[in-house]
Amino acid sequence: MALTGIEILKMLPKKNCGECDVPTCLAFAMKVAAGQEDIGKCPYVSDEVKEKVGEASAPPIRTITIGSGDNTFKFGGETCLFRHEKRFENPTGFAVLVSSDMSDEEVNAKISSFNSLKYERVGLTLKADLIAIKDAGNKDAFIGLIKKVREEASTAPLILMSEDPGALKEGAEILGEHKPLLYAATKDNLEQMAEIAKETGCPLAVKGETIGETAKLSETLQEKGLKDLVLDTGARTLKGALEDQVVMRRAAINHKYKPLGFPSITLPCEMADDPLVEAMITSVLVCKYAGITVLSDLRGDTLFPLLLERLNIFTDPQRPMVVQEDIYPINGPDENSPVLITCNFSLTYFIVSGEVEGSKVPSWLLIKDTEGLSVLTAWAAGKFSADLIGSFVKKSGIEDKVKHRNLIIPGYLAGMKGELEDELPGWTITVGPREASHLPAFLRDWKAS
Ligand code: SF4
Repeated sequence: MALTGIEILKMLPKKNCGECDVPTCLAFAMKVAAGQEDIGKCPYVSDEVKEKVGEASAPPIRTITIGSGDNTFKFGGETCLFRHEKRFENPTGFAVLVSSDMSDEEVNAKISSFNSLKYERVGLTLKADLIAIKDAGNKDAFIGLIKKVREEASTAPLILMSEDPGALKEGAEILGEHKPLLYAATKDNLEQMAEIAKETGCPLAVKGETIGETAKLSETLQEKGLKDLVLDTGARTLKGALEDQVVMRRAAINHKYKPLGFPSITLPCEMADDPLVEAMITSVLVCKYAGITVLSDLRGDTLFPLLLERLNIFTDPQRPMVVQEDIYPINGPDENSPVLITCNFSLTYFIVSGEVEGSKVPSWLLIKDTEGLSVLTAWAAGKFSADLIGSFVKKSGIEDKVKHRNLIIPGYLAGMKGELEDELPGWTITVGPREASHLPAFLRDWKAS
């Protein structure tokens, strides 16, 4: 059961010293209860209290980490059923499957796709996350494949999939500190797999034939002291997988049912032969609530939309995405280049900067901090008003970079032109287009006045 702020306060030393970066013990307790602070930040609490509060305030779905150092994949840690209730914490992982019975060409192509398919969007690099290495029944070939993948995709966190516990143990030992996910403990090998997971310290996937069996296996493994589990309910149809994912999330969040309080691994690669159908199934499982999806291949035409979908679903709806207030040079501008201004909502920035870049016209783009609000919203909220823009332009340093005094403002702010000219004496205000897509033509015709 989660502890309240008052219950946590009773366990604190009540020194009100502020060493936890929060002014009072009461405020710190409230933040710990809300999951905004870690109890460990108070240097005066005992290990016993840390354990008690840590367990009580842990998310209902455990956070699991695969890999080590900078090359880790973290998933789980979810606390709600719907994104708008709070936010989804850790994005669904995309893994590509390689198998020991594939030809070298096939394996090379998949590793190459894993390494090369990367996309820059809103300042983030979007890419697949993991490689799943499957044992097709030949232990030596499996071990050889693990070594090859480790060498050629050294940053990839790995999933080792085998029905042979001995092969999984050997693979985990080869990877050492680079802790892979071991897939999977079943009703037939539970004891052995529990021992291997304990010895190697790797997270362990649990695979049942049904969700009920998976819960039972998970419960047994927890009784044996295993904490880092990942659940596969065995469903291999879209309908079955979707139902299981929803039941698991509800059981963990609404009923605090511990055996299902772990992230899941799903296998769209075993649910469809057609890559487009596989991508469609994956897109459903990203929304409803897969921890990892294992794909048969990575193709730009299906991976890219999946990455964008994931970005949307796992963006915190309560925190706008912003870029830093600054002057951004685009296409190598000089003292005669046009100067544009817009807000710091990152979507606006990337759309506008993309259009300016595409125009090939060297330009200066001024980004004004509007706390992540878009142009019209920021204007309506008083965060993109003429006086604020005027003072930003003056202190930005743009006057040292250009010899003209002509500022292009977004078309939606046309009504601000006169007011802005009063705020910026000596500057001419030009009203730009309303739509960013019209910027290239506008900039090509632009002349400093
Ligand atoms: Fe209270 Fe500990 Fe924070 Fe000091 S560091 S204010 S004792 S919670």
